[in-house]
Amino acid sequence: MTDPRALAIEYLKQQQLLGGDSVILSDSRTVGPSDGNDTSPPALEPTTTFASDRPTVRPSDALPPAGIDFDPPSADLFANDPVQRASSLTEVAQLIAACRKCKLCDSRTNTVPGEGPTTARLVVVGEGPGRTEDETGRPFVGRAGELLTKILEAIKLPRDQVFICNVVKCRPPDNRLPQYDEIAACMPFLHRQIELVKPKVILAMGGTASQSLLNTKQSLGALRNQVHRFRGIPLIVTYHPAALLRNPNWKRPTWDDVRIAARLLAA
Ligand code: URA
Repeated sequence: MTDPRALAIEYLKQQQLLGGDSVILSDSRTVGPSDGNDTSPPALEPTTTFASDRPTVRPSDALPPAGIDFDPPSADLFANDPVQRASSLTEVAQLIAACRKCKLCDSRTNTVPGEGPTTARLVVVGEGPGRTEDETGRPFVGRAGELLTKILEAIKLPRDQVFICNVVKCRPPDNRLPQYDEIAACMPFLHRQIELVKPKVILAMGGTASQSLLNTKQSLGALRNQVHRFRGIPLIVTYHPAALLRNPNWKRPTWDDVRIAARLLAA
């Protein structure tokens, strides 16, 4: 899309979707090329700062400070554990399909291993499958998933270029939070998936993903706006899309977090 008017409209739609502030054109020109040569879109600036307990992160800002650095042991080639020895995402998915290590296997319809290319530069991690995910075996395909797809599009990342998965690979009954033993049983799959994809950035969505990947009990609010590391890979913490559907006030801070991830991807 190169038409400046279409670009501006697209930008405004994203602002609206993600809870951005109203925007004004930076000068009095009408949207569109002022003469035959200028094809760049007009600069658009938020008119206000937004209600967040942290300073706004703008593209020109420095990255937020370093946070937690969690470096669990990597897979051992000589280990007997088949998860550690799995050499592809497909193999990990097959092991997940056969897994009976926790009680979630009793109520699942399908396992939801995650999806996306092994070459993905971004790994998005959610909490656990919901009803639609359990029915289809695919992650983030319900309403929260639609919002996630739009968030990714807003940073010019088509969903099919991202590896999307969850901490637990089977649906917790009634969408309750995954319990400690369920997370502990499932984490080796996630660790191996990240190891195989070797992304440039990890986006942890929600408290369960953030706390599990960083091995901490700190709240999501405390973990946001820092560049953490998981095995050396930059990890950004943000709200879960399902939480955004309940509380639209969190869309704007989420947009800030996602832009930090985008800047790390572009670096
Ligand atoms: N919520 C999640 O955390 N994961 C999904 O796959 C869907 C909803």
